[in-house]
Amino acid sequence: MERIADLLAAGPTRSFEFFPPADAAATQQLDETLDVLAGLWPSFVSVTCGAGGDGHDRTRDIVTGIGRDRPFPAMAHLTCVGHTREGIAALLDDYAAADVVNILALAGDPPDGSAVSGDFRYAAELVEVVRDHPADFSVGVAAHPEVHPRSADRASDRKHLAAKLHMADFAITQFFFDLSDYTQLCDDLADLGCHRPVIPGVMPVIWPKSIRRFADMNNSTVPEALFARLEALPAPDRIAAAAEAAAELSQSLLEAGAPGIHLYTLNRPEASTQIAELLHM
Ligand code: FAD
Repeated sequence: MERIADLLAAGPTRSFEFFPPADAAATQQLDETLDVLAGLWPSFVSVTCGAGGDGHDRTRDIVTGIGRDRPFPAMAHLTCVGHTREGIAALLDDYAAADVVNILALAGDPPDGSAVSGDFRYAAELVEVVRDHPADFSVGVAAHPEVHPRSADRASDRKHLAAKLHMADFAITQFFFDLSDYTQLCDDLADLGCHRPVIPGVMPVIWPKSIRRFADMNNSTVPEALFARLEALPAPDRIAAAAEAAAELSQSLLEAGAPGIHLYTLNRPEASTQIAELLHM
């Protein structure tokens, strides 16, 4: 399987993010979405993982399945808060055995805000463990252009991000809607001496109500005019308008030097397909 670090070195990437489906119907929907998006020749795809319980196992099964059956690489999201070093090591062994070589190393969130348990507190500790594994994993980390909600302040968040990213190969950002949030993040990292690729995560607003809720949790600022316009449209028109807005942002990001575009698909193919067409990706 190709390493994302090598793909980024070769030129701009296009990638798609999915979440593990909850039931049989949602599994079929994800398969159909993968069939459609395969036609866009993704550089890679990624699969999120739930914070606790069997979240890691479900992600592992989907990622190894994609790696086995599809002609593009898959990256596993891996959270560490609430997990043990032994459990993480066993998962990394599974990924290595299945030739999955791309890991997005994340803190995750303690379940319903409870106290931190397990062997890890911050994503940077997980990056070290993944780096220490004998498999030559390509390691990504999360970046929060509008600053992570648990941060004391912007300066300390940027400092911790720069230190974490320095040990990794690349970052993928939380979604945002204003180009300047991305360029400011890259400038801040450069000021801290960190020049690793930062792939912007772009969210087409196909479901404004849900995305507003995610934005509240993530500290992402919602552009009210865009959301109000999309909320007033019927579904097919809303998807087209959401794709147009996301394509416009993506185009500006690529012109500003972004090393690729990572689309949050919400497991649906329509908006991503339209964005790719608009961008001639
Ligand atoms: P960290 O890098 O550990 O940062 C968390 C907070 O701690 C920040 O405020 C940071 O400034 C601070 N910090 C870091 N190091 C230190 C230190 N040494 N001392 C003091 N403070 C410190 N969540 C999931 O559950 N599953 C997923 O699949 C998932 N995928 C994601 C994909 C992307 C692209 C992004 C952007 C986020 C994703 N998340 C996912 C959400 C993520 O797990 C949460 O935002 C989590 O709260 C923080 O994760 P992190 O890896 O950024 O944490």
